[in-house]
Amino acid sequence: MKKYDLITIGGGSGGSGAANRAGEYGKKVAIIENWDIGGTCVNRGCVPKKVSWYAATIADAIEKYGPNYGFTAEDVHFNYQTFLEARDGYVGRSRTGYENNFNKNGIDLYRGHARFVSNHEIEINGECIYGEHIIIATGRRPRPLDVEGAELVEYSDDVFNWTELPQSVLFYGAGYIAVELAQVYNSLGVDTSLAFRYDRPLRSFDRMLTDNLMVAMESSGLGLHPYTHIDSFRRNQDGQIECLMNGQVCITVDKVVAGIGRVPNTEDLGLENTDVKLDEAGLVVVNDKHETDAAGVYAIGDVIDRPNLTPVAIRAGRQISEYLFNDAPTSAIEYDNIPTVIFSHPPIGTIGLTEEQAIEEYGEGNIKVYTNRFFSMYASAGGYREACDFKLVCLGEEEKIIGLHGIGQGVDEMIQGFGVAMKMGATKKDFDSVIAIHPTGAEEFVTMR
Ligand code: FAD
Ligand code: NDP
Repeated sequence: MKKYDLITIGGGSGGSGAANRAGEYGKKVAIIENWDIGGTCVNRGCVPKKVSWYAATIADAIEKYGPNYGFTAEDVHFNYQTFLEARDGYVGRSRTGYENNFNKNGIDLYRGHARFVSNHEIEINGECIYGEHIIIATGRRPRPLDVEGAELVEYSDDVFNWTELPQSVLFYGAGYIAVELAQVYNSLGVDTSLAFRYDRPLRSFDRMLTDNLMVAMESSGLGLHPYTHIDSFRRNQDGQIECLMNGQVCITVDKVVAGIGRVPNTEDLGLENTDVKLDEAGLVVVNDKHETDAAGVYAIGDVIDRPNLTPVAIRAGRQISEYLFNDAPTSAIEYDNIPTVIFSHPPIGTIGLTEEQAIEEYGEGNIKVYTNRFFSMYASAGGYREACDFKLVCLGEEEKIIGLHGIGQGVDEMIQGFGVAMKMGATKKDFDSVIAIHPTGAEEFVTMR
Protein backbone atom coordinates (compact mmCIF):
# COMPACT_ATOMS: atom_id res chain seq x y z
CA MET A 1 0.00 0.00 0.00
CA LYS A 2 1.30 3.47 -0.90
CA LYS A 3 1.85 5.66 2.15
CA TYR A 4 1.52 9.43 2.27
CA ASP A 5 2.27 12.11 4.85
CA LEU A 6 -0.89 13.87 3.68
CA ILE A 7 -3.88 12.96 1.54
CA THR A 8 -6.49 15.55 0.64
CA ILE A 9 -9.86 14.38 -0.58
CA GLY A 10 -10.83 17.10 -3.03
CA GLY A 11 -8.62 19.11 -5.36
CA GLY A 12 -10.51 22.37 -4.95
CA SER A 13 -9.49 25.50 -3.09
CA GLY A 14 -8.95 23.92 0.32
CA GLY A 15 -7.45 20.59 -0.72
CA SER A 16 -5.04 22.23 -3.16
CA GLY A 17 -4.02 24.86 -0.61
CA ALA A 18 -3.11 22.20 1.94
CA ALA A 19 -1.45 19.83 -0.52
CA ASN A 20 0.72 22.43 -2.23
CA ARG A 21 1.98 23.80 1.07
CA ALA A 22 2.85 20.29 2.29
CA GLY A 23 4.53 19.54 -1.05
CA GLU A 24 6.62 22.72 -0.73
CA TYR A 25 7.95 21.28 2.54
CA GLY A 26 9.03 18.12 0.71
CA LYS A 27 6.27 15.90 2.11
CA LYS A 28 4.77 12.95 0.27
CA VAL A 29 1.33 14.13 -0.72
CA ALA A 30 -1.68 12.81 -2.65
CA ILE A 31 -4.76 14.67 -3.90
CA ILE A 32 -7.88 12.74 -4.87
CA GLU A 33 -10.33 14.51 -7.16
CA ASN A 34 -13.45 13.02 -8.73
CA TRP A 35 -14.31 15.95 -11.03
CA ASP A 36 -12.42 18.99 -12.27
CA ILE A 37 -9.11 20.09 -10.75
CA GLY A 38 -9.58 23.41 -9.00
CA GLY A 39 -13.01 22.46 -7.65
CA THR A 40 -15.99 24.76 -7.46
CA CYS A 41 -14.18 28.10 -7.47
CA VAL A 42 -12.21 27.54 -10.65
CA ASN A 43 -14.76 25.59 -12.65
CA ARG A 44 -18.26 26.45 -11.44
CA GLY A 45 -17.86 29.35 -9.04
CA CYS A 46 -15.73 32.45 -8.47
CA VAL A 47 -13.80 32.34 -11.75
CA PRO A 48 -16.52 31.89 -14.41
CA LYS A 49 -18.81 34.08 -12.27
CA LYS A 50 -16.29 36.94 -12.11
CA VAL A 51 -15.60 36.82 -15.86
CA SER A 52 -19.38 36.96 -16.37
CA TRP A 53 -19.59 39.92 -13.99
CA TYR A 54 -16.96 41.73 -16.07
CA ALA A 55 -18.99 41.05 -19.23
CA ALA A 56 -22.08 42.49 -17.52
CA THR A 57 -20.08 45.54 -16.42
CA ILE A 58 -18.96 46.13 -20.00
CA ALA A 59 -22.54 45.77 -21.23
CA ASP A 60 -23.69 48.37 -18.69
CA ALA A 61 -20.92 50.76 -19.76
CA ILE A 62 -21.95 50.46 -23.41
CA GLU A 63 -25.70 50.46 -23.04
CA LYS A 64 -26.32 52.57 -20.00
CA TYR A 65 -23.50 54.96 -19.16
CA GLY A 66 -21.61 55.37 -22.44
CA PRO A 67 -24.26 57.27 -24.44
CA ASN A 68 -24.51 60.06 -21.86
CA TYR A 69 -20.75 60.50 -22.05
CA GLY A 70 -21.09 61.05 -25.79
CA PHE A 71 -20.23 57.58 -27.00
CA THR A 72 -22.43 56.39 -29.79
CA ALA A 73 -22.46 52.65 -30.10
CA GLU A 74 -24.91 51.61 -32.76
CA ASP A 75 -25.77 48.03 -33.68
CA VAL A 76 -24.03 46.76 -30.58
CA HIS A 77 -24.02 43.00 -30.70
CA PHE A 78 -23.10 40.66 -27.89
CA ASN A 79 -21.62 37.47 -29.28
CA TYR A 80 -22.26 34.89 -26.59
CA GLN A 81 -19.96 32.35 -28.25
CA THR A 82 -17.02 34.76 -28.11
CA PHE A 83 -17.81 35.40 -24.46
CA LEU A 84 -17.88 31.66 -23.77
CA GLU A 85 -14.48 31.25 -25.42
CA ALA A 86 -13.05 34.03 -23.28
CA ARG A 87 -14.62 32.77 -20.05
CA ASP A 88 -13.95 29.08 -20.55
CA GLY A 89 -10.46 29.81 -21.86
CA TYR A 90 -9.70 31.60 -18.61
CA VAL A 91 -11.17 28.75 -16.59
CA GLY A 92 -9.11 26.22 -18.56
CA ARG A 93 -5.89 28.16 -17.99
CA SER A 94 -6.65 28.40 -14.26
CA ARG A 95 -7.18 24.65 -14.14
CA THR A 96 -3.90 24.04 -15.93
CA GLY A 97 -2.21 26.35 -13.43
CA TYR A 98 -3.50 24.17 -10.59
CA GLU A 99 -2.22 21.01 -12.26
CA ASN A 100 1.19 22.59 -12.92
CA ASN A 101 1.48 23.45 -9.24
CA PHE A 102 0.71 19.86 -8.25
CA ASN A 103 3.48 18.67 -10.59
CA LYS A 104 5.92 21.30 -9.35
CA ASN A 105 5.29 20.24 -5.75
CA GLY A 106 5.62 16.52 -6.51
CA ILE A 107 2.01 15.73 -5.59
CA ASP A 108 0.41 12.46 -6.76
CA LEU A 109 -2.96 13.24 -8.35
CA TYR A 110 -5.55 10.45 -8.24
CA ARG A 111 -8.62 10.92 -10.47
CA GLY A 112 -11.70 9.21 -9.04
CA HIS A 113 -14.02 8.96 -6.08
CA ALA A 114 -12.44 8.55 -2.63
CA ARG A 115 -13.95 6.46 0.16
CA PHE A 116 -12.58 5.87 3.65
CA VAL A 117 -11.90 2.25 4.52
CA SER A 118 -10.63 3.20 7.98
CA ASN A 119 -9.46 6.39 9.71
CA HIS A 120 -6.20 6.33 7.72
CA GLU A 121 -6.97 4.30 4.60
CA ILE A 122 -8.70 5.51 1.47
CA GLU A 123 -9.99 3.41 -1.39
CA ILE A 124 -9.74 4.95 -4.83
CA ASN A 125 -10.48 3.09 -8.09
CA GLY A 126 -9.97 -0.24 -6.30
CA GLU A 127 -6.58 0.80 -4.86
CA CYS A 128 -6.02 1.45 -1.17
CA ILE A 129 -3.68 4.22 -0.01
CA TYR A 130 -2.60 5.18 3.51
CA GLY A 131 -2.50 8.72 4.88
CA GLU A 132 -0.74 9.64 8.11
CA HIS A 133 -2.89 12.77 7.89
CA ILE A 134 -6.03 13.16 5.81
CA ILE A 135 -7.98 16.31 5.02
CA ILE A 136 -11.61 16.11 3.93
CA ALA A 137 -12.13 19.02 1.51
CA THR A 138 -15.00 17.72 -0.58
CA GLY A 139 -17.01 20.97 -0.77
CA ARG A 140 -20.70 21.36 -1.45
CA ARG A 141 -23.14 21.18 -4.37
CA PRO A 142 -26.35 23.11 -5.08
CA ARG A 143 -29.29 22.37 -2.78
CA PRO A 144 -32.08 20.88 -4.92
CA LEU A 145 -35.41 22.71 -4.95
CA ASP A 146 -38.04 20.26 -3.78
CA VAL A 147 -41.10 21.23 -5.80
CA GLU A 148 -43.43 19.77 -8.43
CA GLY A 149 -41.70 20.06 -11.79
CA ALA A 150 -38.28 20.03 -10.12
CA GLU A 151 -36.81 18.33 -13.20
CA LEU A 152 -37.19 21.67 -15.05
CA VAL A 153 -35.06 23.51 -12.49
CA GLU A 154 -31.41 24.28 -13.16
CA TYR A 155 -28.63 25.38 -10.80
CA SER A 156 -25.51 27.54 -10.95
CA ASP A 157 -23.48 24.54 -12.21
CA ASP A 158 -25.84 24.31 -15.21
CA VAL A 159 -25.75 28.04 -15.92
CA PHE A 160 -22.03 27.79 -16.65
CA ASN A 161 -22.80 25.10 -19.24
CA TRP A 162 -25.35 27.10 -21.23
CA THR A 163 -24.29 27.10 -24.86
CA GLU A 164 -26.97 29.62 -25.88
CA LEU A 165 -28.27 32.69 -24.10
CA PRO A 166 -31.91 32.15 -23.09
CA GLN A 167 -34.40 34.89 -23.86
CA SER A 168 -35.85 34.81 -20.38
CA VAL A 169 -34.86 33.35 -17.04
CA LEU A 170 -36.21 33.25 -13.50
CA PHE A 171 -33.72 33.00 -10.65
CA TYR A 172 -35.19 31.75 -7.39
CA GLY A 173 -33.28 32.32 -4.16
CA ALA A 174 -31.94 35.04 -1.96
CA GLY A 175 -28.22 34.50 -1.50
CA TYR A 176 -25.00 35.49 -3.20
CA ILE A 177 -25.57 33.19 -6.17
CA ALA A 178 -29.11 34.18 -7.14
CA VAL A 179 -28.32 37.90 -6.77
CA GLU A 180 -25.04 37.78 -8.68
CA LEU A 181 -26.23 35.61 -11.56
CA ALA A 182 -29.60 37.35 -11.98
CA GLN A 183 -27.84 40.68 -12.38
CA VAL A 184 -25.31 39.26 -14.85
CA TYR A 185 -27.97 37.87 -17.16
CA ASN A 186 -30.13 40.96 -16.81
CA SER A 187 -27.21 43.14 -17.94
CA LEU A 188 -26.44 40.76 -20.81
CA GLY A 189 -29.88 41.47 -22.24
CA VAL A 190 -31.81 38.45 -21.00
CA ASP A 191 -35.32 39.17 -19.69
CA THR A 192 -34.52 38.29 -16.08
CA SER A 193 -36.57 37.91 -12.90
CA LEU A 194 -35.52 37.27 -9.34
CA ALA A 195 -37.97 35.70 -6.90
CA PHE A 196 -37.36 35.24 -3.19
CA ARG A 197 -39.27 34.21 -0.08
CA TYR A 198 -39.18 37.40 1.95
CA ASP A 199 -39.09 41.16 1.38
CA ARG A 200 -35.50 41.22 0.09
CA PRO A 201 -32.56 38.98 -0.69
CA LEU A 202 -29.35 38.81 1.40
CA ARG A 203 -31.31 39.21 4.63
CA SER A 204 -28.30 38.46 6.84
CA PHE A 205 -26.46 41.49 5.44
CA ASP A 206 -26.67 45.01 6.80
CA ARG A 207 -30.06 46.51 5.95
CA MET A 208 -28.49 49.62 4.41
CA LEU A 209 -26.88 47.44 1.74
CA THR A 210 -30.02 45.56 0.78
CA ASP A 211 -32.19 48.69 0.76
CA ASN A 212 -29.81 50.22 -1.76
CA LEU A 213 -29.49 46.99 -3.75
CA MET A 214 -33.25 46.63 -4.11
CA VAL A 215 -33.48 50.11 -5.64
CA ALA A 216 -30.55 49.40 -7.96
CA MET A 217 -32.01 46.08 -9.09
CA GLU A 218 -35.41 47.58 -9.72
CA SER A 219 -34.07 50.51 -11.73
CA SER A 220 -31.97 48.13 -13.85
CA GLY A 221 -35.14 46.46 -15.13
CA LEU A 222 -34.68 43.22 -13.23
CA GLY A 223 -38.13 41.81 -12.41
CA LEU A 224 -38.35 41.44 -8.63
CA HIS A 225 -40.81 39.01 -7.01
CA PRO A 226 -40.66 39.35 -3.23
CA TYR A 227 -42.67 37.14 -0.86
CA THR A 228 -42.71 34.36 -3.40
CA HIS A 229 -43.57 30.78 -2.69
CA ILE A 230 -43.03 28.44 -5.64
CA ASP A 231 -45.89 25.97 -6.11
CA SER A 232 -44.72 24.16 -9.22
CA PHE A 233 -43.20 24.42 -12.67
CA ARG A 234 -44.63 22.95 -15.86
CA ARG A 235 -43.59 23.05 -19.50
CA ASN A 236 -46.18 24.56 -21.85
CA GLN A 237 -46.83 23.75 -25.52
CA ASP A 238 -44.29 26.33 -26.67
CA GLY A 239 -41.59 24.60 -24.67
CA GLN A 240 -41.42 27.38 -22.11
CA ILE A 241 -41.65 26.93 -18.35
CA GLU A 242 -44.73 28.21 -16.55
CA CYS A 243 -43.93 29.15 -12.99
CA LEU A 244 -46.79 28.78 -10.55
CA MET A 245 -46.02 31.10 -7.70
CA ASN A 246 -48.27 32.10 -4.78
CA GLY A 247 -51.16 30.13 -6.24
CA GLN A 248 -51.14 31.49 -9.80
CA VAL A 249 -49.12 31.36 -13.03
CA CYS A 250 -47.00 34.42 -12.55
CA ILE A 251 -44.40 34.17 -15.19
CA THR A 252 -43.41 32.11 -18.22
CA VAL A 253 -39.72 31.76 -18.97
CA ASP A 254 -37.17 29.77 -20.96
CA LYS A 255 -35.20 28.76 -17.90
CA VAL A 256 -35.53 28.54 -14.15
CA VAL A 257 -32.47 28.57 -11.91
CA ALA A 258 -32.56 27.94 -8.16
CA GLY A 259 -29.87 29.38 -5.89
CA ILE A 260 -31.14 28.36 -2.48
CA GLY A 261 -27.95 27.31 -0.72
CA ARG A 262 -25.63 24.34 -1.02
CA VAL A 263 -25.39 20.91 0.63
CA PRO A 264 -22.16 19.16 1.70
CA ASN A 265 -20.56 16.34 -0.28
CA THR A 266 -20.34 13.87 2.58
CA GLU A 267 -22.44 10.93 1.45
CA ASP A 268 -20.68 7.99 -0.10
CA LEU A 269 -17.38 8.97 1.53
CA GLY A 270 -17.18 5.83 3.66
CA LEU A 271 -17.35 7.93 6.83
CA GLU A 272 -19.19 5.08 8.55
CA ASN A 273 -15.81 3.31 8.57
CA THR A 274 -14.24 6.14 10.56
CA ASP A 275 -14.72 8.10 13.77
CA VAL A 276 -15.62 11.25 11.79
CA LYS A 277 -18.95 12.75 12.87
CA LEU A 278 -21.47 14.67 10.81
CA ASP A 279 -24.00 17.20 12.10
CA GLU A 280 -27.69 17.13 11.18
CA ALA A 281 -27.00 19.10 7.99
CA GLY A 282 -24.41 16.53 6.88
CA LEU A 283 -21.47 18.87 7.56
CA VAL A 284 -18.29 17.42 9.04
CA VAL A 285 -17.99 18.28 12.73
CA VAL A 286 -14.62 19.86 13.58
CA ASN A 287 -13.15 21.77 16.50
CA ASP A 288 -11.48 25.15 16.04
CA LYS A 289 -8.30 23.37 14.88
CA HIS A 290 -10.22 21.69 12.04
CA GLU A 291 -9.78 18.31 13.76
CA THR A 292 -12.54 15.72 13.39
CA ASP A 293 -13.24 13.04 15.99
CA ALA A 294 -10.85 10.73 14.08
CA ALA A 295 -7.23 11.41 15.10
CA GLY A 296 -5.25 12.66 12.12
CA VAL A 297 -8.34 13.45 10.03
CA TYR A 298 -9.17 17.12 9.41
CA ALA A 299 -11.91 18.89 7.45
CA ILE A 300 -11.88 22.35 5.88
CA GLY A 301 -13.70 24.64 3.47
CA ASP A 302 -17.31 24.32 2.41
CA VAL A 303 -17.74 20.88 3.95
CA ILE A 304 -17.64 22.34 7.48
CA ASP A 305 -19.84 24.92 9.16
CA ARG A 306 -17.73 28.00 8.40
CA PRO A 307 -17.97 30.79 5.78
CA ASN A 308 -18.10 29.27 2.31
CA LEU A 309 -15.44 31.35 0.62
CA THR A 310 -12.42 30.29 -1.40
CA PRO A 311 -9.79 32.23 0.58
CA VAL A 312 -11.19 30.75 3.81
CA ALA A 313 -10.75 27.19 2.49
CA ILE A 314 -7.25 27.95 1.21
CA ARG A 315 -6.16 29.58 4.47
CA ALA A 316 -7.41 26.66 6.54
CA GLY A 317 -5.70 24.11 4.27
CA ARG A 318 -2.37 25.92 4.29
CA GLN A 319 -2.51 26.40 8.06
CA ILE A 320 -2.95 22.68 8.67
CA SER A 321 0.15 21.98 6.59
CA GLU A 322 2.06 24.73 8.38
CA TYR A 323 1.07 23.12 11.67
CA LEU A 324 1.85 19.55 10.64
CA PHE A 325 5.01 20.14 8.66
CA ASN A 326 6.50 23.51 9.63
CA ASP A 327 6.06 23.76 13.41
CA ALA A 328 3.24 26.35 13.35
CA PRO A 329 1.75 26.45 16.86
CA THR A 330 -1.80 25.68 15.74
CA SER A 331 -3.92 24.50 12.84
CA ALA A 332 -6.66 26.98 13.83
CA ILE A 333 -7.33 30.11 11.79
CA GLU A 334 -9.15 33.31 12.72
CA TYR A 335 -12.70 33.39 11.40
CA ASP A 336 -13.51 36.92 12.55
CA ASN A 337 -13.59 40.02 10.33
CA ILE A 338 -13.47 38.11 7.05
CA PRO A 339 -13.96 40.60 4.22
CA THR A 340 -16.45 39.46 1.59
CA VAL A 341 -17.80 40.94 -1.62
CA ILE A 342 -21.04 40.28 -3.43
CA PHE A 343 -20.45 40.92 -7.10
CA SER A 344 -23.75 42.65 -7.57
CA HIS A 345 -24.30 45.81 -9.65
CA PRO A 346 -23.20 47.91 -7.83
CA PRO A 347 -20.98 45.63 -5.78
CA ILE A 348 -21.31 45.15 -2.03
CA GLY A 349 -18.38 44.86 0.37
CA THR A 350 -18.74 43.93 3.99
CA ILE A 351 -16.55 43.09 7.00
CA GLY A 352 -17.55 42.23 10.54
CA LEU A 353 -20.87 42.79 12.26
CA THR A 354 -23.97 44.37 10.78
CA GLU A 355 -25.54 47.20 12.77
CA GLU A 356 -28.29 44.83 13.90
CA GLN A 357 -25.82 42.14 15.03
CA ALA A 358 -23.65 44.67 16.88
CA ILE A 359 -26.61 46.04 18.82
CA GLU A 360 -27.78 42.56 19.67
CA GLU A 361 -24.31 41.54 20.86
CA TYR A 362 -23.21 44.68 22.72
CA GLY A 363 -26.41 46.66 23.42
CA GLU A 364 -27.56 49.81 21.66
CA GLY A 365 -25.85 52.12 24.16
CA ASN A 366 -22.41 50.72 23.29
CA ILE A 367 -22.73 51.06 19.53
CA LYS A 368 -22.28 54.18 17.44
CA VAL A 369 -23.03 54.04 13.74
CA TYR A 370 -21.71 56.42 11.08
CA THR A 371 -23.10 56.51 7.57
CA ASN A 372 -22.35 58.42 4.39
CA ARG A 373 -24.23 58.52 1.14
CA PHE A 374 -22.91 60.03 -2.04
CA PHE A 375 -23.95 59.78 -5.63
CA SER A 376 -21.53 57.96 -7.90
CA MET A 377 -19.59 60.43 -10.05
CA TYR A 378 -19.29 57.79 -12.78
CA ALA A 379 -23.06 57.54 -13.04
CA SER A 380 -23.96 61.13 -12.19
CA ALA A 381 -21.72 62.67 -14.84
CA GLY A 382 -23.53 60.43 -17.27
CA GLY A 383 -26.95 61.59 -16.14
CA TYR A 384 -27.91 58.94 -13.57
CA ARG A 385 -28.33 59.24 -9.80
CA GLU A 386 -26.85 56.13 -8.25
CA ALA A 387 -26.52 56.20 -4.51
CA CYS A 388 -23.47 54.68 -2.88
CA ASP A 389 -23.86 53.92 0.83
CA PHE A 390 -21.18 53.44 3.45
CA LYS A 391 -21.41 52.51 7.10
CA LEU A 392 -19.07 52.10 10.04
CA VAL A 393 -20.28 50.27 13.13
CA CYS A 394 -18.22 51.31 16.17
CA LEU A 395 -17.96 49.83 19.66
CA GLY A 396 -17.58 51.59 22.99
CA GLU A 397 -15.95 54.88 23.89
CA GLU A 398 -12.85 54.27 21.85
CA GLU A 399 -15.08 53.53 18.85
CA LYS A 400 -13.36 50.38 17.70
CA ILE A 401 -14.61 49.54 14.23
CA ILE A 402 -16.41 46.22 14.37
CA GLY A 403 -18.44 46.53 11.17
CA LEU A 404 -17.71 48.10 7.80
CA HIS A 405 -20.19 48.01 4.93
CA GLY A 406 -20.38 49.61 1.52
CA ILE A 407 -22.32 49.41 -1.72
CA GLY A 408 -21.28 51.30 -4.81
CA GLN A 409 -18.94 51.43 -7.77
CA GLY A 410 -15.50 50.13 -6.83
CA VAL A 411 -16.41 48.81 -3.40
CA ASP A 412 -15.30 45.34 -4.49
CA GLU A 413 -11.69 46.55 -4.80
CA MET A 414 -11.95 48.90 -1.82
CA ILE A 415 -12.41 46.85 1.29
CA GLN A 416 -9.44 44.46 1.40
CA GLY A 417 -7.20 47.16 2.93
CA PHE A 418 -9.88 48.16 5.42
CA GLY A 419 -9.88 44.50 6.44
CA VAL A 420 -6.22 44.87 7.46
CA ALA A 421 -7.07 47.96 9.52
CA MET A 422 -9.89 46.12 11.28
CA LYS A 423 -7.68 43.12 12.06
CA MET A 424 -5.26 45.61 13.66
CA GLY A 425 -8.08 46.91 15.86
CA ALA A 426 -8.55 50.26 14.11
CA THR A 427 -10.79 52.87 15.74
CA LYS A 428 -12.86 55.61 14.18
CA LYS A 429 -10.09 58.03 15.24
CA ASP A 430 -7.54 56.00 13.25
CA PHE A 431 -9.77 56.17 10.19
CA ASP A 432 -10.23 59.94 10.67
CA SER A 433 -6.47 60.43 10.92
CA VAL A 434 -6.02 59.26 7.34
CA ILE A 435 -6.17 61.92 4.64
CA ALA A 436 -8.76 61.11 2.02
CA ILE A 437 -8.03 60.26 -1.60
CA HIS A 438 -10.19 62.52 -3.71
CA PRO A 439 -12.32 62.00 -5.70
CA THR A 440 -13.02 58.37 -4.84
CA GLY A 441 -15.71 56.37 -3.13
CA ALA A 442 -13.20 55.05 -0.59
CA GLU A 443 -12.75 58.51 0.92
CA GLU A 444 -16.24 58.21 2.39
CA PHE A 445 -14.88 55.73 4.94
CA VAL A 446 -12.38 58.24 6.36
CA THR A 447 -14.58 61.35 6.30
CA MET A 448 -17.65 60.26 8.24
CA ARG A 449 -19.05 62.56 10.94
P1 FAD B 1 -14.51 22.77 -3.62
O1 FAD B 1 -13.79 23.86 -4.30
O2 FAD B 1 -15.93 22.55 -3.97
O3 FAD B 1 -13.67 21.44 -3.89
C1 FAD B 1 -14.13 20.17 -3.49
C2 FAD B 1 -13.73 19.15 -4.54
O4 FAD B 1 -13.84 17.84 -3.99
C3 FAD B 1 -14.64 19.19 -5.75
O5 FAD B 1 -13.88 19.32 -6.93
C4 FAD B 1 -15.37 17.85 -5.71
O6 FAD B 1 -15.69 17.37 -6.99
C5 FAD B 1 -14.35 16.98 -5.00
N1 FAD B 1 -14.93 15.80 -4.32
C6 FAD B 1 -16.08 15.74 -3.61
N2 FAD B 1 -16.24 14.50 -3.10
C7 FAD B 1 -15.17 13.76 -3.51
C8 FAD B 1 -14.78 12.42 -3.30
N3 FAD B 1 -15.48 11.59 -2.54
N4 FAD B 1 -13.63 11.99 -3.89
C9 FAD B 1 -12.88 12.84 -4.65
N5 FAD B 1 -13.21 14.13 -4.86
C10 FAD B 1 -14.33 14.59 -4.29
N6 FAD B 1 -16.10 32.20 -3.10
C11 FAD B 1 -15.38 33.36 -3.06
O7 FAD B 1 -14.52 33.53 -2.18
N7 FAD B 1 -15.57 34.34 -4.01
C12 FAD B 1 -16.47 34.21 -5.00
O8 FAD B 1 -16.61 35.12 -5.83
C13 FAD B 1 -17.24 33.02 -5.06
N8 FAD B 1 -18.15 32.84 -6.05
C14 FAD B 1 -18.85 31.66 -6.11
C15 FAD B 1 -19.78 31.51 -7.14
C16 FAD B 1 -20.51 30.34 -7.23
C17 FAD B 1 -21.52 30.19 -8.35
C18 FAD B 1 -20.30 29.30 -6.27
C19 FAD B 1 -21.06 28.01 -6.37
C20 FAD B 1 -19.37 29.44 -5.26
C21 FAD B 1 -18.65 30.64 -5.16
N9 FAD B 1 -17.73 30.85 -4.14
C22 FAD B 1 -17.01 32.02 -4.07
C23 FAD B 1 -17.52 29.82 -3.08
C24 FAD B 1 -16.25 29.00 -3.36
O9 FAD B 1 -16.31 28.47 -4.66
C25 FAD B 1 -16.12 27.89 -2.33
O10 FAD B 1 -16.17 28.44 -1.04
C26 FAD B 1 -14.82 27.10 -2.48
O11 FAD B 1 -14.70 26.55 -3.77
C27 FAD B 1 -14.75 25.98 -1.43
O12 FAD B 1 -13.57 25.23 -1.60
P2 FAD B 1 -13.50 23.73 -1.09
O13 FAD B 1 -12.09 23.28 -1.32
O14 FAD B 1 -14.05 23.62 0.26
O15 FAD B 1 -14.49 22.92 -2.04
P1 NDP C 1 -26.72 31.36 0.43
O1 NDP C 1 -26.61 30.50 1.62
O2 NDP C 1 -25.85 32.55 0.33
O3 NDP C 1 -28.24 31.86 0.28
C1 NDP C 1 -29.29 31.03 -0.01
C2 NDP C 1 -30.58 31.74 0.39
O4 NDP C 1 -31.65 31.14 -0.31
C3 NDP C 1 -30.90 31.59 1.85
O5 NDP C 1 -30.25 32.54 2.63
C4 NDP C 1 -32.41 31.72 1.90
O6 NDP C 1 -32.77 33.10 2.00
C5 NDP C 1 -32.83 31.20 0.51
N1 NDP C 1 -33.39 29.85 0.62
C6 NDP C 1 -32.93 28.81 1.35
N2 NDP C 1 -33.71 27.74 1.20
C7 NDP C 1 -34.70 28.11 0.37
C8 NDP C 1 -35.83 27.44 -0.16
N3 NDP C 1 -36.09 26.18 0.13
N4 NDP C 1 -36.62 28.13 -1.00
C9 NDP C 1 -36.37 29.41 -1.31
N5 NDP C 1 -35.33 30.10 -0.84
C10 NDP C 1 -34.50 29.45 0.00
O7 NDP C 1 -26.55 30.35 -0.76
P2 NDP C 1 -26.02 30.49 -2.24
O8 NDP C 1 -26.47 29.22 -2.85
O9 NDP C 1 -26.42 31.79 -2.84
O10 NDP C 1 -24.44 30.52 -2.06
C11 NDP C 1 -23.76 29.55 -1.29
C12 NDP C 1 -22.51 30.14 -0.71
O11 NDP C 1 -21.49 30.25 -1.71
C13 NDP C 1 -22.67 31.57 -0.19
O12 NDP C 1 -23.21 31.61 1.10
C14 NDP C 1 -21.26 32.07 -0.22
O13 NDP C 1 -20.59 31.71 0.96
C15 NDP C 1 -20.66 31.35 -1.42
N6 NDP C 1 -20.63 32.28 -2.54
C16 NDP C 1 -19.80 33.36 -2.45
C17 NDP C 1 -19.77 34.30 -3.44
C18 NDP C 1 -18.87 35.49 -3.29
O14 NDP C 1 -17.96 35.45 -2.49
N7 NDP C 1 -19.08 36.56 -4.04
C19 NDP C 1 -20.59 34.18 -4.63
C20 NDP C 1 -21.41 32.99 -4.65
C21 NDP C 1 -21.42 32.09 -3.63
P3 NDP C 1 -34.19 33.53 2.67
O15 NDP C 1 -34.23 32.86 3.99
O16 NDP C 1 -34.09 35.02 2.74
O17 NDP C 1 -35.25 33.05 1.73
